[in-house]
Amino acid sequence: MNSLKQQYEEKVRPCIDLIDSLRSLGVEKDLALPAIAVIGDQSSGKSSVLEALSGVALPRGSGIVTRCPLELKMKRKKEGEQWHGKISYQNNEEDLKDPSDVEKKIREAQDKMAGVGVGISDELISLEIASPDVPDLTLIDLPGIARVAVKGQPEDIGDQIKRLIQRFITKQETISLVVVPCNVDIATTEALKMAQEVDPNGERTLGILTKPDLVDKGTEEMVVDIVHNVVIHLKKGYMIVKCRGQNEIKKKVSLTEAIQKEKAFFKDHAYFQILHDEGYATVPKLAEKLTLELVHHIQRSLPRLEEQIENKLAQTQAEMVKYGKEPPADATERIGFLIDRVTAFTQNAISLASGEELKFGVRSNMFFILRKEFASWKETIERSGVTFNKNIEQEVAQYEQKYRGRELPGFINYKTFEGMVQEQIKQLEEPAILKLKEVAEIVKKELFKLAQHSFVGFPNLIKAAQLKIEAIRKEKEIAAESLLRTQFKMELIVYTQDATYSKKLGKRRREDEQEYIGFGSLQVVKKSTNNTTTSVDTRATLKEMMNHLKSYYRIVGQRLADQIPLVIRYQMLQESTTQLQREMLQMLQDKEKTEALLLENCSIKNARLHLQKCHMRLSKARIRLMEFSMNTYSFKSAQLQCPS
Ligand code: GDP
Ligand code: MG
Repeated sequence: MNSLKQQYEEKVRPCIDLIDSLRSLGVEKDLALPAIAVIGDQSSGKSSVLEALSGVALPRGSGIVTRCPLELKMKRKKEGEQWHGKISYQNNEEDLKDPSDVEKKIREAQDKMAGVGVGISDELISLEIASPDVPDLTLIDLPGIARVAVKGQPEDIGDQIKRLIQRFITKQETISLVVVPCNVDIATTEALKMAQEVDPNGERTLGILTKPDLVDKGTEEMVVDIVHNVVIHLKKGYMIVKCRGQNEIKKKVSLTEAIQKEKAFFKDHAYFQILHDEGYATVPKLAEKLTLELVHHIQRSLPRLEEQIENKLAQTQAEMVKYGKEPPADATERIGFLIDRVTAFTQNAISLASGEELKFGVRSNMFFILRKEFASWKETIERSGVTFNKNIEQEVAQYEQKYRGRELPGFINYKTFEGMVQEQIKQLEEPAILKLKEVAEIVKKELFKLAQHSFVGFPNLIKAAQLKIEAIRKEKEIAAESLLRTQFKMELIVYTQDATYSKKLGKRRREDEQEYIGFGSLQVVKKSTNNTTTSVDTRATLKEMMNHLKSYYRIVGQRLADQIPLVIRYQMLQESTTQLQREMLQMLQDKEKTEALLLENCSIKNARLHLQKCHMRLSKARIRLMEFSMNTYSFKSAQLQCPS
């Protein structure tokens, strides 16, 4: 006996304490903790069972009495130690000296949380009771399932209660105690149905039959069968208890007396005696069973709990990084903070512009987009060349009138050639400017994004950065446009290195031979000249002209395919971001402005605060868990046997 008690002290208590301490840290806000929830239809005897287990009178009576979830933490004290109670809810906490105060205090708490009257609330009232007469157990009492609303209750009170109950019992971490009176048909009780819905195999549901003294004559055998778990099978089985009826309360039968009476009742009962002998009956037996169930349940839940805490911690840490550090209170430190943030941003902007990896977990695919944009610019050049050539070929009929000068057939006029080249290149000017604008817009958007990301929570800072980005974009776009226009003006000078041109022309001529043998391109030209007859000489001249045009266009095309992106990159990326850096740092010189820049967005501030709290809670919880597994290392090898 003594060793059993010792085992109990060493093993059961720490387990339950661990979960209680996690709960009081508020970890329940982040993840579910192992718990036992008591559910049942109204007046099925839930509060009476809790009362019998805890030894304190709880509010009860007819109608809806339990209006908030009540967490009842019971802690066994050593023989002879004093009773002690504590009630806490929202921000209130009060010590209780006398068990007889409990009922009143709970009613007060309920009135504060759910309003005076008959409403309900989701918020938890926590009642701690330490005494030599209670088991080590934490139970959650829930409002009873009501079928109809009474006067003053909202129409949907039944649904509200059901939702509240479901919130608790759907969690894998909750064991449901379903309280069912012996005098009703168990199969039809709403509470059991609800428990079965969330736990179809009855893995974490335990049945408690109450009011055996009120059983209908003739149905006793049925009750015995139920407790023997052969009617509606639950893995955790059933227990049967008898609590104080209304009459006994009136007669002031004490809870201790009631326990004795209960024992006598079962022992002498013609049908239920067997249940007593088998250990399925009485409140003390129930207490034993529940404690062991809870401890086992906690042990089983620990690995998952540890894992969840780790995951949640990692998650909050990641989020905290996203929200960044909060600005310090000290004035000089604040400026330092601001400088750091701004420097990080401008450095990232410069990295972004040069296509380098960004720091602080920021990702950007801007260079990928720009590469595509510049590739499409090259395609524009090629397409424009092709259409231009086609147009000339179609105009071949008018070649004589339009282009031919005084030269003999076979000669091509250099001025004509120059004119045609200039016209062809001119067609690229507007598309080049358009490309500049497109890229400028892309870069601006990326920088905006970067500012938002870098200055999360500081709306004024984001705005200031964005204003600068926009102003610089405008300025640099004008500079780039003027450079591009100059380039196109320069392109009016028809020029390339002799060697380059000869090489291209030679290549072009060879290609032309191939085409002639292959497809007879001149025949195509001939056909397109309807009525007018084109002389063979003209055709030869035209062919020669086309070879020159194509050769030169290829060279210019290559030049512009590189030059335009270079100008755009130089102005819109390189120059813009260095200027952005300069201007952002200059902005910090203005001491009066810095405070405004550091003005924090309220919701972000709150979110950060919330995360910090959550992080603190979880870190503490992790420490508790580590301490626990260190202290109970030997515990795992000698786990308690759970009665089935
Ligand atoms: P709750 O609404 O589920 O919390 O039910 P209560 O615990 O308030 O009990 C409802 C009524 O049933 C009360 O009047 C209790 O005294 C009575 N009651 C509870 N258990 C027993 C029991 O085992 N026998 C008898 N005769 N009455 C009981
Ligand atoms: Mg109740």
